[in-house]
Amino acid sequence: MIRSNLLSHLAGYVNDQWIAADTGKRMDVFNPATGEKLADVPFMGAAETRRAIASAKHALLTVSDAATRRHWLEVTRDALLEHQEEIGRILCLEHGKPWKEAQGEVQYAASFFDYYAGLVETATAPETLPDKFKGCTWTLYKRPVGVVGLITPWNFPIAMIAKKIAPALAAGCPSVIKPAPDTPLTMIAMFQIMAQTLDLPKGMINLVIGDAVQIGSELMDSPDVTMVSFTGSTATGRLLMQQAVKHVKRLGLELGGNAPFIVLDDADLDGAADGLMINKFRGAGQTCVCANRVYVQKKVYDAFAKKITERVSKLKVGDGMKEGTDIGPLINVNGFAKVKGHLADALDKGATLLTGSRPDALDATRGLFFTPTVIGGVDDTMRCCHEETFGPLIPLIPFDDDEEVIRRANDTEFGLAAYVFGKSQTRAHHIIARLHFGHCAFNTGTGPAAIAPFGGMLSSGLGREGGLEGLMEYMETQTVPDGSH
Ligand code: ADP
Repeated sequence: MIRSNLLSHLAGYVNDQWIAADTGKRMDVFNPATGEKLADVPFMGAAETRRAIASAKHALLTVSDAATRRHWLEVTRDALLEHQEEIGRILCLEHGKPWKEAQGEVQYAASFFDYYAGLVETATAPETLPDKFKGCTWTLYKRPVGVVGLITPWNFPIAMIAKKIAPALAAGCPSVIKPAPDTPLTMIAMFQIMAQTLDLPKGMINLVIGDAVQIGSELMDSPDVTMVSFTGSTATGRLLMQQAVKHVKRLGLELGGNAPFIVLDDADLDGAADGLMINKFRGAGQTCVCANRVYVQKKVYDAFAKKITERVSKLKVGDGMKEGTDIGPLINVNGFAKVKGHLADALDKGATLLTGSRPDALDATRGLFFTPTVIGGVDDTMRCCHEETFGPLIPLIPFDDDEEVIRRANDTEFGLAAYVFGKSQTRAHHIIARLHFGHCAFNTGTGPAAIAPFGGMLSSGLGREGGLEGLMEYMETQTVPDGSH
């Protein structure tokens, strides 16, 4: 069982009270590295969600000025950084990612509070247009969109909520938050910190943990929730879109990806290999932005395959709490089975194993540790090319020329992230301009940052997180023509 001074309440949080489920029902949370039970948390449903929405609606009546909202963000940033080791430890225990990496995620989360603290006063100030029109002065006010529902996945237990709640608070939106069932403890710790350190209006932040379908339906069905921001699977995102119709609810959706990582023949191959390592193995490859398909131009294919194979074969897989672990376990048996299935399918269809483990040696009943694996000679018929693998498997795919790789990279319904490595800026930017991905990195494997908008094209989602755009998702512009003089 986990012990932590940040987990004094293993409970939900509604109307500034720590609460259990009405039914008394609880669910277990496990450490994926050991299989050990860490804690149990309430399993709530529709009734608790309705009360959370009512309390958030009430909080909307208290209007806080921009300076106050900036203060909330600064205090949260500082508190997260102060507790980064302990939040990182909780995150590592319930998610599995190495402790250092988990602490890095806390810093990344804090950067969203920091960024929006710096932006909130100028970005939300009223703006009077310079020209009179129709005999009026025209002023644009930024209003909070209203009560927001925030639904998060397990792969970044603190970063994903930070991307949502920091702009929601900056905008003045009360929230009802639902974490993923695999990783609710980090969220509870964040709530404890915020409850202790912030003087928020009563009901401003609410936490409901439990039945995803009931909580989700309540959020979508309620006319009092004006926006839902969701990060998770495309299937759930589609369902939320259908449910949003009734109240024409505003949606932010960050859904699946199938990122191409393109290595051109003029690329610095060591730089590309290093970029791929950082990009691919964060969270054991369980991120929506990580390279899913690695296209390597034929002229440099063998050299790049050698470099990446050497690097991957040195990675240490193990318990994230142990010093020296590069990669932790996968989150659960379903995730493990999917990656194993992609590997088996590719090998059956003719791919070659360059380093890693054969599928028959991978057994989830002996632990969720998946040996990082590189396979070569992959083609687009294989599942790992048209589905998101979400695990530490690198498929290398040879290609001939730029036109071919643009066509193949774009041959997906997803449009979240892409990466291009090459020497010539002109050539790379010609490729980037034709790729339908919201995040297109050049000579870096980096993912998003608080300062810049991030989001998907096509079936990867709607809206942006980060940057000014990420704040505007939580605001409505109200236009006031004034004809009184
Ligand atoms: P993943 O495959 O990454 O778990 P999901 O879309 O199932 O993706 O989960 C992401 C988040 O969405 C989690 O918090 C999960 O509990 C929640 N979720 C799952 N189903 C629904 C639903 N029908 N309505 C609202 N939220 C849901």
